[in-house]
Amino acid sequence: MTAVTIGLVTTAAVTLGFILWSAQGVDERSLEHEINLARHVISAQLDRIPHDQESVTIWDDSINHLKPALDTHWVDVNLGVWMSDFFGHDEVIVLDASNRPIYAMAEGEMTGLEAARDALPTLNPLISELRRKISGGGLDAYEAGTAPNPPRASDLVVVHGVLSLVSMTPIISDSGDIVQARGTEYIHVSMVHLAAAYAGRLGEEYLIPDASFTEAASGVPDRAMLPLSNRAGRFITFLEWTRTSPGQAMLNQTIPAIAGAFLIAGIIAFLLVDQLWRKSRALEAGRADAEHQARHDRLTGLPNRANFEAELAHVLAERPTRERRISLLMLDLDRFKAVNDTLGHRAGDDLIRAVSQRLRQLVAPGDHLARLGGDEFALIHFHAPGPDDPLALSKRIIEALGKPFDVHGSEAFVGASIGIATAEGGEADSREVARKADIALYEAKATGRNRAVFFEESMSELLQNRHMIEGELREALRRDDQLSVAFQPLYGADHTSMIGAEALARWHNPRLGQVSPAHFISIAESSGLIERLGQFVLRQACELGAKWPGRTIAVNMSPVQLRNPRFPQEVFAVLRETGMRPGDLELEITEGILLEDASIASEALHIFRSSGIRIALDDFGTGYSSLNYLKRYPVDRIKIDRSFVSQLAPGHVSVAIVEAMVRLAHALKIEVTAEGVETEEQVKVLTDLGCNIFQGFLLSPPITAAALEAMLGHPVRHVDDAKVA
Ligand code: C2E
Ligand code: MG
Ligand code: MG
Repeated sequence: MTAVTIGLVTTAAVTLGFILWSAQGVDERSLEHEINLARHVISAQLDRIPHDQESVTIWDDSINHLKPALDTHWVDVNLGVWMSDFFGHDEVIVLDASNRPIYAMAEGEMTGLEAARDALPTLNPLISELRRKISGGGLDAYEAGTAPNPPRASDLVVVHGVLSLVSMTPIISDSGDIVQARGTEYIHVSMVHLAAAYAGRLGEEYLIPDASFTEAASGVPDRAMLPLSNRAGRFITFLEWTRTSPGQAMLNQTIPAIAGAFLIAGIIAFLLVDQLWRKSRALEAGRADAEHQARHDRLTGLPNRANFEAELAHVLAERPTRERRISLLMLDLDRFKAVNDTLGHRAGDDLIRAVSQRLRQLVAPGDHLARLGGDEFALIHFHAPGPDDPLALSKRIIEALGKPFDVHGSEAFVGASIGIATAEGGEADSREVARKADIALYEAKATGRNRAVFFEESMSELLQNRHMIEGELREALRRDDQLSVAFQPLYGADHTSMIGAEALARWHNPRLGQVSPAHFISIAESSGLIERLGQFVLRQACELGAKWPGRTIAVNMSPVQLRNPRFPQEVFAVLRETGMRPGDLELEITEGILLEDASIASEALHIFRSSGIRIALDDFGTGYSSLNYLKRYPVDRIKIDRSFVSQLAPGHVSVAIVEAMVRLAHALKIEVTAEGVETEEQVKVLTDLGCNIFQGFLLSPPITAAALEAMLGHPVRHVDDAKVA
């Protein structure tokens, strides 16, 4: 805005300056011209007077009325009054051959000769000059026709105090008939007073306005001045007049127009600038909005991940002080996916909004809350030294988020797990602090959810261990000498006839020894290696299953595999390639997948079942609302988790639980497998409860494929320990 104003004012100033400058230039040139004109007018006047005189001085009659006797009347009429009346001359004097005045006229009337005599001293220089010119041959030249006019003498002279143009010329014959001896010519003196009247005439005739003759300059600014000097170079008077100043006149006329133009230009510029300013304001607002959107989460309006990371780096760069500690809380909802899948994405969005609302109410004014994405939130918390404060806050958060949410008319329960890392000892690496909080969160989730866990170095070691195992597993999948598949036989209701086996992944690492699937499966899942590992197990299982039609071969499947939409195709490809009958294959899934990706899981499960592949729900009872899922999803079998089976003893509460599970399953025409059967007592209880299939160390541990095949040839209940896999 100011730049435009400055620009406009500068332009106006420059334009105005230029106009003034050119007006001044015009005026200067005009003055120069007027002065030249005035100078020319004065010299023309000096030339004109003799010219006027010559109308009577080159005339035979004049000589005849002067010589030998003076005809005063005639002279007065023709050489005096005539000059006044016709030419406006103020004074006339006629001098005889001896330069004595013989006639004088002033202001149109004949006067006495005293005044003329008095004037002689001032006129003498001119008289002498004229006589010199005559005696010098001036008249001869004129009479010979070589000079255009007879000799003359004229100058500016102050005669009895009156500034006058004085001109003298000899009175001579026009016909040449009257011959006068040289030097005897009479002289006609004519004077024009440079006074007000004459000045007025100059003004009228030569357009020199308000002309006046003054001895002292008036000093009025718009008056022009021409100093006049006599022929001897002596200053005589000033000719003064009013300058025309056309530049100034033009200015007077154009300034209002120019001012008007500038005013209009100013108004237009103002309007344009105003509009521009409004537009740029709108643009700025749009940019700020876009920036806000880029830095904030749309759903909750909370800062987003990028914003959070920048903020964390910023607060850590300022270094936490003793009084002002910084803890980072990473928060993850525990059952968000289930809500999202069962109630829909809209409900999920509403839930996230409601969660952010509750969180907002709990955080202190200076703290920074952000949504990192999905169901992940982060909180930068400023607090006093010691772990109590963030822990207390975490507890409040967990408690608040543990209360039911009303989502689209249904009550939704989600919990929250929190990982806490405190920026200790001036820790300034934001990524390091975030990593620690993430590890703590991972630990919180892994150790039972709905809790807050402080980061400890040992967790980091665990994590490093996982990384190491991941690398080893990757290597193992590339080679063929570390991974294998064991089979744990499944027995029928009589718990002596083997109806099939469950394929279980086995990994022998030369450095780590035997690694438990309980350990490496979760690493394979989180690193994406599970797809290849699953393929490997499935292929081995199907190759064996193809050789023993009629036997059930169960294969464990990770939720990660099921989430892959191409997974069913891959399973059928393996079945086709190995030749195994789909009806002999049983896929074991855990409740997790139903909880997380209900729709995907249900679709895949329908495809499998339609081809005869059976579905078993593994580790039944350990998840959430297991019984509900039974109604909703197509499963053929549940496998009651070992944790229930191991507690089975007459009178124990587990008996009732297992009984309820079996009843419900049977009511839904679902078979029941008991996992981890280790004692005869358990077998007895389970048999009484109506379990269909038994699996456990009591009957057989997992064994090698070769051992299984040997057993399938001669089904017996126990195997040699040597063959245990
Ligand atoms: P799961 O599917 O429930 O497998 C049964 C687990 O219980 C096996 O452990 C088996 O060795 C163990 N077990 C069987 N009978 C008894 C018993 O009487 N007492 C006790 N204490 N344990 C018994 P394993 O082989 O260590 O596998 C652990 C888990 O790893 C499996 O649990 C399964 O969830 C997973 N897993 C194993 N192989 C695979 C695989 O190829 N793919 C996938 N996705 N998961 C697998
Ligand atoms: Mg299993
Ligand atoms: Mg199990």
